[in-house]
Amino acid sequence: MTVLTERRADVAVLRLDNPPLNGLSLATRQALLRALEDAQADASVRAIVLTGGPRAFSSGADITEFGSPTAYQHPNLPTLIDALEHCTKPVVAALNAVAMGGGLELALGCHYRIAEPNCRLALPEVKLGLVPGAGGTQRLPRALGVEAALNLITSGEPITAAAAARVPDQALLDRVATSADTLLDEALALATEAAQQAQAGQPLPSLRNRKASHPRAEGYFAFARAMLKGQARHVSAPLRAIDLVEAATRLPLAAGLAQELQVFLDLMNTPESAALRHVFVAERAAGKIADVPASTPTRPVQHVAVVGAGTMGSGIAMACLNAGLRVSLLETQAPALERGMGNIRSTYEGQAAKGRLKPEALADRLGRLNGTLAYADIAQADVVIEAVFEDMGVKEQVFRQLDAVMKPGAILASNTSTLDLNAIAGFTRRPQDVVGLHFFSPAHVMKLLEVVRGEQTAPEVLATAMAFGKTLRKTCVVSGVCDGFIGNRMLDPYFRQAAFLLEEGCSPQQVDRAIEAFGFPMGPFRMSDMAGNDIGWAIRKRHYVEKPQVRHSRLPDRLCELGRFGQKTGAGWYDYRPGQRDGAISPVVNELIEQHRASLGLAPRKVSNEEIVQRLVLALVNEGARILEEGVAARAGDIDMVYLTGYGFPAWRGGPMHWAEQQGLYAVAQAMRRIASAPHGDADFWQPAPLIARLAAEGGRFHG
Ligand code: NAD
Repeated sequence: MTVLTERRADVAVLRLDNPPLNGLSLATRQALLRALEDAQADASVRAIVLTGGPRAFSSGADITEFGSPTAYQHPNLPTLIDALEHCTKPVVAALNAVAMGGGLELALGCHYRIAEPNCRLALPEVKLGLVPGAGGTQRLPRALGVEAALNLITSGEPITAAAAARVPDQALLDRVATSADTLLDEALALATEAAQQAQAGQPLPSLRNRKASHPRAEGYFAFARAMLKGQARHVSAPLRAIDLVEAATRLPLAAGLAQELQVFLDLMNTPESAALRHVFVAERAAGKIADVPASTPTRPVQHVAVVGAGTMGSGIAMACLNAGLRVSLLETQAPALERGMGNIRSTYEGQAAKGRLKPEALADRLGRLNGTLAYADIAQADVVIEAVFEDMGVKEQVFRQLDAVMKPGAILASNTSTLDLNAIAGFTRRPQDVVGLHFFSPAHVMKLLEVVRGEQTAPEVLATAMAFGKTLRKTCVVSGVCDGFIGNRMLDPYFRQAAFLLEEGCSPQQVDRAIEAFGFPMGPFRMSDMAGNDIGWAIRKRHYVEKPQVRHSRLPDRLCELGRFGQKTGAGWYDYRPGQRDGAISPVVNELIEQHRASLGLAPRKVSNEEIVQRLVLALVNEGARILEEGVAARAGDIDMVYLTGYGFPAWRGGPMHWAEQQGLYAVAQAMRRIASAPHGDADFWQPAPLIARLAAEGGRFHG
């Protein structure tokens, strides 16, 4: 059932019923049109109320239909809206909880609108690289006024019904209901009044008959364009939306609607919209684990213990405090504990000084934090997250102790970046309760959380870890156990390529600039300077022993031997002046690179920016494909989410795996083979991963 009809005296109530959020799928549209026609034909019906359920009026188009012929199949959204506008009986939209995108456009076709006060109204299409396609850009300016409508359309952000009702001269909402509970009764009262007015011969109101105007239209639209230009560099939807709102002030509705549809269809075919729609779907899919159904029970988490109060431990503690949880922070030495607690306090005080945290919230957060040197104090925590030194010996000590003291059923998590989680679980007598929670720095800011599933991690523990990550408002992606998990494992060949490019003729700034122009906020050398070049050095030293067959440039080691660890030492791939984060070109590094090339007998060649981007991004793709093939990641979309939320891959390119598909996997495989045959090509790495080779031959795709 997708639409339920019930009678309340002489009013027909049409209730959208397509869980969870009343997406306007073809079946729902068909059912709504039928219900509307039935109510229209029934002589005993004098008015119609169109409503949804407690979770939503409607969240809009069914995104799984996007780009497929079903999306346009009749009755499509414009047809339905037309039917509502031309209904001869008054139609009242009663908006519950959420009216977004096509859901709001549907309501704009009704004669009257009433909403519960907290109902969120939005046209979020720009977030998918689109504009509203069913009249939103034409009717909303007529309903809400040009400026308020343009703000909603170009930001994609929601406004509450209560706030919308305060916009001067608005005709978006005829009434705001007292509460969600009284919405239907108040909508029925409005419908009855409307029926009486209609019977008395008053014409039915329609947004068609309202004008959208602005007293200083030309200047205002020029200003709006100037404001959005920077942001619209890679995604054209916001600027196209301005054109359409301007058209609403100039053109009759029908002409404006035709223009809107054309722009919508144009944008639907842009790569950036395809990428943003992919991200939308991938984000929702990332939380799903094939063999851990949504019905898997989870354990309650209210009290979290964090072991180690360094960079990560402090950040993780803040992420938990920000989510309302109680936190115990454990260290072995008082000075280290005091340092960690002090960092947390000063971060919050800094936020409070900037007005970003209210004094009572500051007190509340610090009130939920306690520091300790005794394991006995954390024994009752529901989850304990270890964030001590990246050293197996230290991890062993900590996990043996945790095993001894933690209450039964407590989840034992490690924030290790590179160590074998199965070995860590082996230090306990409860490996089923051990999971990896790989946060990114700064842990209270970064969206990504890799949830690492050990061989013996219990489904219930995994489900709890995912729910816990959601409580922290993280994007959770499940990774199997491997060196570096999904994100850092892919970063390894990316950095190796970056270093080879220096050997072959590039400067660090050329490499950084090329990949930044592609859309990364920071190139590999600036990033490494920020994170600390010594971290990569330590990992490489281990790799030299464990994986002697993997080719590395020794140039980054030479840099570290000079003590150039990056921003923290004032010198890395760039030179840093005190207090400045932007590095300057370093003559020392240029000299070092030249000497290094000479020692290898390499004459520098001119490398194009295109080659730089290709080699860096394809390095991610090739390793990503291996990760997918091995089952370390369950879906290509999960890999994309890791790169989008943890590594700054530009959203409008959809993530490395989506980007590769947009290039075509055949072209990707060919490019890899070409690079493999180049003189400095690292031929072993550049053999296309078997998955890529197979899909390229079959014309297949990563995303099923
Ligand atoms: P850090 O050196 O800043 O902090 C480690 C802290 O652990 C120190 O305060 C130390 O006193 C404490 N410690 C050491 N042994 C302990 C013990 N036995 N009991 C209690 N506390 C102890 O290191 P970090 O950068 O916060 O990294 C911690 C962990 O997080 C490592 O496993 C690291 O690989 C991982 N990690 C780091 C990052 C990052 O960007 N720094 C990102 C993701 C994961």
